[in-house]
Amino acid sequence: MSQTLTEIKQLLAGHGLRPKHRLGQNFLHDHNHLVRILDAAEVAAGDVVLEVGPGTGALTERLLAAGAEVVACEVDRDLEAVLRERIDTSEDRFTLVVGDVLADKRTLNAELLDRLASRRFKLIANLPYQVASPLLANLVLDHPAMDAAVVMVQKEVADRLAAPPGGKDYGALGVLVQAVCLVRRVGVLPPSCFWPAPKVSSAVVHFQRRPEPLTDDPHALAGLLHTLFGKRRKQLGAILGRGVDWPAGVEPTMRPEQLTVEQLVALSRLNLS
Ligand code: SAM
Repeated sequence: MSQTLTEIKQLLAGHGLRPKHRLGQNFLHDHNHLVRILDAAEVAAGDVVLEVGPGTGALTERLLAAGAEVVACEVDRDLEAVLRERIDTSEDRFTLVVGDVLADKRTLNAELLDRLASRRFKLIANLPYQVASPLLANLVLDHPAMDAAVVMVQKEVADRLAAPPGGKDYGALGVLVQAVCLVRRVGVLPPSCFWPAPKVSSAVVHFQRRPEPLTDDPHALAGLLHTLFGKRRKQLGAILGRGVDWPAGVEPTMRPEQLTVEQLVALSRLNLS
């Protein structure tokens, strides 16, 4: 019961709609990759799932069929009618919040938070490209109720999320997320899996919250990462100054990208920034 490309086109056309580029509307019509997201997420009956950007409901229908309770947040009011046509909204396992998932860069939509009601949840979504990084940072920083996530993002964002130390992809977002979650890339999708086809490839990333996060103060870590990776070509000593009691294995001549996640967390405990 996947939505085929023809069905997605018909659903939009039936409501006089076209995909909106500014809202990152690239609809996934590849059945196999939809199944791959669901498998990676190990959705079980009774799971509470946050879906950001349900679009025409292709993934939503699958999540509901797997027995999940879906709390979905869609910013495009025009798609509300499409979703209500596809999905039985009297079904009490489906809640639709129409609005921006982010109230501002650092805060989630208040109605959405209300609907999640402090329950543990999984984020499962084909994320709009402009929202992915601030949303993931926000969930990791401020919403420990998120146990796990399986998200489709631009491949470049996936590379940053899962990056090991030393390379150009290693930066503040990846370190922050890796300090709190175990992160792995599940697969890469070519633009042809979406309609309309985006300019870049996408990738599915799986996050599992660590049983013991490496930091108990992710905000202190985020502050330090902002300072360090804003000057990533400089040496630590030049950024942080003298008199720092450098953690084991860290030298003032090293550049931020050479430090492991653990070393960056150790540095964040010194409350330098
Ligand atoms: N889930 C559908 C799929 O997989 O085909 C659509 C995914 S599409 C990449 C992204 C969706 O996110 C669109 O439906 C878009 O309208 C919605 N969206 C964009 N910005 C949003 C925001 N700030 N808050 C909530 N939804 C947003």
